Amino acid sequence: MRKAIRTIIHPIIFGLYPVLFLYGENLGEVASYDLLLPLAFSLALVISFLGCFWVLLRDMDKSAAMSSLSLIFFFFYSGFSEFASSHLPLIVSTNIVLHPYYIVNFFSAAFLTLSFILLRDYKGGLGPLTTFFNVIASILLVFNLIDVVPFILSEDVRRGVDNPGDVHVISGKSMPDIYYIILDGYSRDDVLLESLGHNNSGFSDELRARGFYVADKSMSNYATTFLSLPSSLNMKYIDHVSSNTTRLPHDLSMAYNLIRDNEVQKYLKSKGYTIVNFRSSWGPTDDIRSADLQLSFSQFRENNDFFLVLLQTTALSPFIEHIIWDFRRNNILYVFDELSDVALMPEPTFTLSHVLCPHAPFLFDRDGGVPVQTMDSRELYVGQLVYVNKRVLGVVDEILSKSDEPPVIILQADHGAGILGFNNACVNNPLDNRNYDDKMVEDRVKILNAYLLPGGGSEGLYESISPVNSFRVVFNRYFHENLTMLEDRSYFSCGRNPFDFREVEHTTA
Ligand SMILES: [Zn+2]
Repeated sequence: MRKAIRTIIHPIIFGLYPVLFLYGENLGEVASYDLLLPLAFSLALVISFLGCFWVLLRDMDKSAAMSSLSLIFFFFYSGFSEFASSHLPLIVSTNIVLHPYYIVNFFSAAFLTLSFILLRDYKGGLGPLTTFFNVIASILLVFNLIDVVPFILSEDVRRGVDNPGDVHVISGKSMPDIYYIILDGYSRDDVLLESLGHNNSGFSDELRARGFYVADKSMSNYATTFLSLPSSLNMKYIDHVSSNTTRLPHDLSMAYNLIRDNEVQKYLKSKGYTIVNFRSSWGPTDDIRSADLQLSFSQFRENNDFFLVLLQTTALSPFIEHIIWDFRRNNILYVFDELSDVALMPEPTFTLSHVLCPHAPFLFDRDGGVPVQTMDSRELYVGQLVYVNKRVLGVVDEILSKSDEPPVIILQADHGAGILGFNNACVNNPLDNRNYDDKMVEDRVKILNAYLLPGGGSEGLYESISPVNSFRVVFNRYFHENLTMLEDRSYFSCGRNPFDFREVEHTTA
């Protein structure tokens, strides 16, 4: 009995470790309660493996060893695949092109089969092997827990502070509902026309017909989502984030925290607003923990994205691609279907909806169907954009018809499409932000930026207004604040080296 308890430890650790490891890699992006589903899944997997191998081997040491080996292959499948795809082409020099999946499948199956046969036929004692596995597993776990446990404990303290029950509504509908709808990667009309051959003026005209002011010379303040949103939601430039030199260049947790705990939301909350977030499925905007209400298409969902990311690293990854796509499609459709219902809430509301569209992946064709992925990416982008246009106009119309008082609606991109080489250039040469040609850089920051302000007109607005000033205008106009307008500047950088900024000239052409 003692022996059984001892031997059973390492498969459990090897099962739980990948979840905790991924969590540790993403501290600050995933809530601790999001671990429950993945941990339950892992535990079920451990029990299944142990059960199956026990039936085949009738020996606890042997079944546990086989289970741990299988779990390692299962959870680190994508790691092995990546290793295979980056290293094997040098070794395999035939005319046959083998997808890394097949190579990894073959070697995993061969290794596990061989291990199984050796273990099955081995007649000696397996105590030392079990002890070895236990020690390795425990060391991994301890190192992981040193990172994770203090974070989880401090998170519980923070969650207590941000209890949504503290909200006190102080006023009725004298204050307008405010909708901040971020359409990820939505380029400005002139870029759509020149670079993608798409005339989008019909959409802008429809917006103007509904009273929107379209800032048609607008440029984003930054070139990537995780810099743009902290800036627009805090109404300031965020260069101070980069001045903290103790952090790694790719450590974005400070930018994430600026999204989750932003000034716009805090200000409006102090005015009695109810804060609504439509979960985006992208880390920071998927979980605005201080929001009063977070909405998503799946009721079970507490950041399912973490679970999906975990599954993507496992041997199930080839099979779950379409599940991930359905998930993303449904999440976006939910916003278009449900967003206008916020207008029915009696209290003043601030709604944040970060829609991961028309940005790739291309989930919709121009009629909302699933597009054929072999098409040219520009064509795919335009198709998705046309569908987004249709749905956004529908949402706007529904908000207007359901609202008692005229609302504020901001339709804004966090950056442009960047289809003209930005993405490739950033991947291929991420370390020098000065290497990209001006056109590429400009196209990345020229954005859709449109405002519907109650009382109409363009008071406070101008054609080159940038996102950093959006809420300065809104707060000055509707809350009689006296916020200075900041100079509209655009800083270009790549995701891999985000704080190496290059300022983009604001062309008046
Ligand atoms: Zn984006």
